[in-house]
Amino acid sequence: MPTKGEKQKTMAKQKFVYMFEEGNEGQKELLGGKGANLAGMTALGLPVPPGFVVATTACVKYYDEGKKFDSNVEKEVFECVAKLEKKMGKKFGDASDPLLVAVRSGSRASMPGMMDTILNLGLNDVTVEGLAKKTNNPRFAYDCYRRFIQMFSSVVMDQDKHACERVIDEVKAKRGVKEDTDLTVEDLKEIIDRFKSDYKKDHPEGFPQDPKEQLIKSIEAVFRSWDNPRANTYRFMHNIPYNWGTAVNVQSMVFGNKGDTSGTGVAFSRNPSTGENKLYGEYLMNSQGEDVVAGIRTPHNIDQLEKENKKIYDEFASIAKKLEKHYKDMQDMEFTIEEGKLYMLQTRNGKRTATAALRVAVELVKEGLIDEKRAVSMIDPKQLDALLHPQFDKNALKEAKDIAKGLAASPGAAFGRICFTPEGAHEAWKKGEKVILVRVETTPEDIEGMVAAQGILTARGGMTSHAAVVARGMGRCCVAGCGQLIIDEKAKTCTINGKKYTEKDSISLDGSTGCIYDGCLKTEEAQLTGDFGTIMAWADKFRALKVRTNADTPKDTERAIELGAEGIGLTRTEHMFFESDRIGPMRQMIVAKTEEARRAALEKLLPMQRKDFIGIFTVLEHRPATIRFLDPPLHEFVPQDEAGVKNLAKDLGMTFEEMKATIDGLHESNPMMGHRGCRLAISYPEITEVQTRAIIEAAIEVKKTKGFDVVPEIMIPLIGEIKEFKFLKDVVVKTADEIIKNSDVKIKYMVGTMMEIPRACITADEVAKEAEFFSFGTNDLTQMTFGFSRDDAGKFLEDYYAKKIYEQDPFQTIDEIGVGELVKTAVVKGKAERKNIKIGVCGEHGGDPASVDFFHRAGLEYVSCSPFRVPIARLAAAQANIRNPRK
Ligand code: PEP
Ligand code: MG
Repeated sequence: MPTKGEKQKTMAKQKFVYMFEEGNEGQKELLGGKGANLAGMTALGLPVPPGFVVATTACVKYYDEGKKFDSNVEKEVFECVAKLEKKMGKKFGDASDPLLVAVRSGSRASMPGMMDTILNLGLNDVTVEGLAKKTNNPRFAYDCYRRFIQMFSSVVMDQDKHACERVIDEVKAKRGVKEDTDLTVEDLKEIIDRFKSDYKKDHPEGFPQDPKEQLIKSIEAVFRSWDNPRANTYRFMHNIPYNWGTAVNVQSMVFGNKGDTSGTGVAFSRNPSTGENKLYGEYLMNSQGEDVVAGIRTPHNIDQLEKENKKIYDEFASIAKKLEKHYKDMQDMEFTIEEGKLYMLQTRNGKRTATAALRVAVELVKEGLIDEKRAVSMIDPKQLDALLHPQFDKNALKEAKDIAKGLAASPGAAFGRICFTPEGAHEAWKKGEKVILVRVETTPEDIEGMVAAQGILTARGGMTSHAAVVARGMGRCCVAGCGQLIIDEKAKTCTINGKKYTEKDSISLDGSTGCIYDGCLKTEEAQLTGDFGTIMAWADKFRALKVRTNADTPKDTERAIELGAEGIGLTRTEHMFFESDRIGPMRQMIVAKTEEARRAALEKLLPMQRKDFIGIFTVLEHRPATIRFLDPPLHEFVPQDEAGVKNLAKDLGMTFEEMKATIDGLHESNPMMGHRGCRLAISYPEITEVQTRAIIEAAIEVKKTKGFDVVPEIMIPLIGEIKEFKFLKDVVVKTADEIIKNSDVKIKYMVGTMMEIPRACITADEVAKEAEFFSFGTNDLTQMTFGFSRDDAGKFLEDYYAKKIYEQDPFQTIDEIGVGELVKTAVVKGKAERKNIKIGVCGEHGGDPASVDFFHRAGLEYVSCSPFRVPIARLAAAQANIRNPRK
């Protein structure tokens, strides 16, 4: 432990603000992604406008101190301002040649557009004149000033951002001009005066004229934007911890709006949609920063820059290659051209579609830039989901005629009812409806609606617009910049190519071609590319965890095997009884009053279940299969409405009243903790007997007819006490051994249990005396550990996220601290008792990459997940083993 004196010394040494040249690209935690890369590019000698970074630690301190700006941090900021002034030969607030800066957020993980940016900071009533004279361009100077007031008012002071736009529109209307660029110096002055007097109405002290005050207020605003609703939603979606905080980059301004030899753009070193190794991007001449990203004006393709200004294009292309080589990944870069000189404002690893991610990774290996391990590590496993998404059915497409076309911004196929507002989309999603969010353009405030929609259609904006970038990141289908779409947001209508649509109509979007269709088109499953197979094969080489699937039918099993499943980790046998021809005998069994009646019903179910197992074992060939006995509360199978009860009574020769009383008798106040799992079989062991027969007879049959050595793993659910397990194991063993003894082929089987109740985990050494395997049922284990119902938690968990009590859904990503501790305890105790005990997981967490990483570290043998998550789990398992290799 450091002494008090030492502590003070280290605290005194803590540094919060770094000039770009003081940092390096490895310091993402401290400087944020943008800051670290600006430092990295500076070190590479690239043309980066000088600046400094206020570290993430300063943001954390700001929040720790109750949102108060620390005086030491402030001191450091101004020390860096002084250094910057020296470098630039300009002074902050100088009346003749002012230093102007951009203030931008930049957290450890990139969160495009989620936080705030302020440009042209340092302008005031005096410096604007100095800038006008110095540049000999008054129009430019006043345009910068009006932009600055606009950004500062909305971002820093939370004023209504549309108020400023309305002022501009009014002045344009008065002058009879359409474009911002048509406004004269006098017009801009009028706009500035009106902005300032509107500002004064809310803030009597008036628009701040002191650049130092402007700067500190802006840095604080960026800190605050870390906690704005859209940043919180984005963090939640991407598991980015709240306590990371954001850094703030303060960079001297270069201007893309200085006239026709200036411009600004965004480009990727490879195509972010397809992965093709070709510069890809957009730019706009005579424009500033946000114009391109925000999608307000439709920009030009970067290829045109080659024709317009070959020298700049070549310089940029060579920087792009250099950066790729250096960062060993595809780059997403922002640049500005100021009077014919190129400046790099940002570089980061580019967000990309799943298809592009695979292609880029495979090609980087071929190009010798990275090795296979790195290729496997650079793909976000969750992104694979997008590859497995449906496309439109080829025949349906042949018959359909597109009504319009936009940019193919993010691939996949989607259909749904039109929704013009993010709120509307979110509401519809809550009701389980499929919707397409239709917007003029999206802004970060739309994030909830974008999450809720199947697809996103915008009238404006390019491939790097907010809608496109965010949709790609989410794997959501998106068609952007559709010129034939005209939206009347107020009336909630739009016309697409002249035809009117309302929120009652549905459309279909093809995010891979940009086509828009009337109505709902049939979709088909995705085709996987060759790159997918290459990456998966590499992943399989590196992983230690096996990956199984949760499947209840031969068809699901087949699909899962195609996707790389190595066996079944969970067959939920109750799922086999929902079909119309089975529900009858199942209900008969449930309402049976005597063992005899129950056995009669079970005899009808036996052949159906045996047939299912034969099908599954046949598809599996020699692969393992864990089959779980009946689990859910019985009332789920019986009708609750009067007509249904009447019908069932008639079918089973009972009176309505008798049947109603029987069904009412099944009612439980807390079914999740009621008569389910092994408790059912303890009351009615004949269920276990018959299910064992179905499994063992099926295994014998498959062995006889196909020669496959199936070793069924019979799994008893929801045990909390070893005696529960022992009681049922005895029934299984007696039944199974008898069948095997009377058969002419010999088969092996295992009996194990699910670990779903904390008591079972704590007593795992006892349980392992009898159980030959454990499978963690982390859905129930989470429910039972937290003590909240998995059916109802959704209703109140939102409040927990809003209040930051939980940062993620514990039913999606394992709670390592609590539930994880139980898992670890059970693994250690189980292995201590039975050295070779098989241990896996079959709860939903088995397909969640962060949870897979935990299960790897906890020493499990396999994870099991739904078929479509198998590739995700394979990749996540490889990444887990690359991060923490198993001995
Ligand atoms: C579990 O509880 O994690 C599990 C796999 O079982 P079920 O979801 O069927 O309760
Ligand atoms: Mg369960």
